[in-house]
Amino acid sequence: MTESAPLDVDLALLGGGGAASLLLAALDRHGVHDLRIAVVDPVRRRGQDRTWAFWGHPGTDLDPLLSASWQQVEVATAARRRVLDLTPLRYAMLRSGPVYDRAAAAERRLDATRIVAPADTVTDDGTRVRVRTGDGQTVRAGWVLDSRPRPPARAGRTTWLQHFRGWWLEADRPVFDPARAVLMDFRTPQPPRGVSFGYVLPVSDRYALVEYTEFSPDLLTDAGYDAALAAYRDLLGLDPAGLRVREVENGVIPMTDAPFPARPSPRVIRLGTAGGATRPSTGFTFSAMYRQADQVARALAAGRPPVPQAAYPRRHRWMDAVALRALDRGGVGGPDFFDRLFDRNPAERVLRFLDGVTTPAEEVAIMNSTRLLPMIAATAGDAAHRVRDRLRPTRPAPAVPPAVVGAEPSGG
Ligand SMILES: Cc1cc2nc3c(=O)[nH]c(=O)nc-3n(C[C@H](O)[C@H](O)[C@H](O)COP(=O)(O)OP(=O)(O)OC[C@H]3O[C@@H](n4cnc5c(N)ncnc54)[C@H](O)[C@@H]3O)c2cc1C
Repeated sequence: MTESAPLDVDLALLGGGGAASLLLAALDRHGVHDLRIAVVDPVRRRGQDRTWAFWGHPGTDLDPLLSASWQQVEVATAARRRVLDLTPLRYAMLRSGPVYDRAAAAERRLDATRIVAPADTVTDDGTRVRVRTGDGQTVRAGWVLDSRPRPPARAGRTTWLQHFRGWWLEADRPVFDPARAVLMDFRTPQPPRGVSFGYVLPVSDRYALVEYTEFSPDLLTDAGYDAALAAYRDLLGLDPAGLRVREVENGVIPMTDAPFPARPSPRVIRLGTAGGATRPSTGFTFSAMYRQADQVARALAAGRPPVPQAAYPRRHRWMDAVALRALDRGGVGGPDFFDRLFDRNPAERVLRFLDGVTTPAEEVAIMNSTRLLPMIAATAGDAAHRVRDRLRPTRPAPAVPPAVVGAEPSGG
C-alpha cells in the first residue's frame, strides 16, 4: 500500500452516523464554514436505517424533517390506559433518510473531505491528533470528534440491552389514530428478567410503525421477535389480513451504568452512544446527541474548543444506575416503575427528567414517586458494588451484540 501525504484538517469526524449527521447540520447552521473538516466512515449513511422518536419543544430546525409529531401520547398498563398531554413539548418522529440527506448537503457546503474507510488508530500528542485509516491514509487533525461504536471502558454493575423489532404496517382501511402515539404499552407479557412494552407511532390513519421492545440482558431469536410483535399487533386488535409489513426495523442499544469516557485524551471528544449520550434507564439518545451537536457547533463558531457539556449530569447517571439495579434485581417491576412516574408527575417533568434537564427539586419529586423500599435497597446495593469494584481488577465490558435481522417483510 503506498503512503500518501497526510491530510491536515482542523476537525476530523470519525463515524458519520447519527451524532455526526446532527453535528454537520449544526456546523452549517451556525456558519462554521472556515474550518477544514474530514469525515471518516467506511459506510456513507443514506436512506432509512432507523427511526428516531424523541420529545422536545416544537420550532427547531428539525421541524421540516419530521414525519409526524403528537401532542398526546398514551402510556398503558394492564390496569389502565393513560393519555398524556405533553404541552408545551411534543413527541416527534424523524426517519433517518432526511437526517442523512441534510447532513450530506451540509457536508458539501462545509467543503468537507470524505474518507470512505474505517478509522483505525488514533494518536493524540496533546496538540494534534493523528488518525490512520484502514485504506492507509493519515489524517492530522486539530480535534477529533469520535462517534465510532465501542464498548464502555469497563463492565458496568448492570448490563442490559434495549432490543427491539418494529414493523412499518400499512392497513387497507383506517385503523390508526394519527392524533396520538402510544409511548409505552406494558400490556405485553413481561419477560422473567427485564421489561417489555410495545409502542405505536402512526404517521396516518393507515400507516404506522408498531414496535416490540425489551429492556433485558439477552436478545431474542428472530422467531421470538416476530412472535412477540405479532402478539402485540393482535393485542392492539389489528387484523393481519388487512395489513402489510412494508419495512422492518431492528435495533440493539446499550443500557448500562458502565462508563463511556467522553474525552479519552485532550483533543479527542466522543459523541453519540460512544460518548455516553444513551440514557442508561431508557436507551433514548437522540435529544442528548442533538443538544451536544449544537453545543459543539456554537463553541466552534465562537472560536472555542469543541467540547460539549456532559450528555447527562452525574446525579442522573447515579439515579439511572440505581433504577437499573432495582429493575434488574427484581426489586421494582418495570411497568409499575414507569406507571408510577407518569401517575405522580406531570408528563412534561418526567420527559425532561429522562432527557437529563430537570432541576434537583424536580428530581426529588421524581424519586419520591418511586417505591421507596426497593429503591433504598438498590441504592445500598449500588454503593456496596462500587466499593467492591474499587477493590478488584477492572473487568472488560462485553461488546453490544448486533441486532437480530430476519427475513424480508412477509405481509404481516
Ligand atoms: C434501529 C435504531 C433505532 C433507534 N431509535 C432511537 C430513538 O427512537 N430514539 C433515540 O433517542 N435513540 C434511538 N436509537 C439510539 C441512537 O439514537 C442511535 O443508535 C444513533 O444512531 C446513535 O448515533 P451514533 O452516531 O452514536 O451511532 P451510529 O448512528 O451508529 O453511527 C456510528 C457510525 O460509525 C461508523 N463506524 C463504525 N466503525 C467505524 C470506524 N472504524 N471508523 C469510522 N467510522 C466507523 C458506522 O458506520 C456509523 O456510521 C436507535 C438506534 C437504532 C439502532
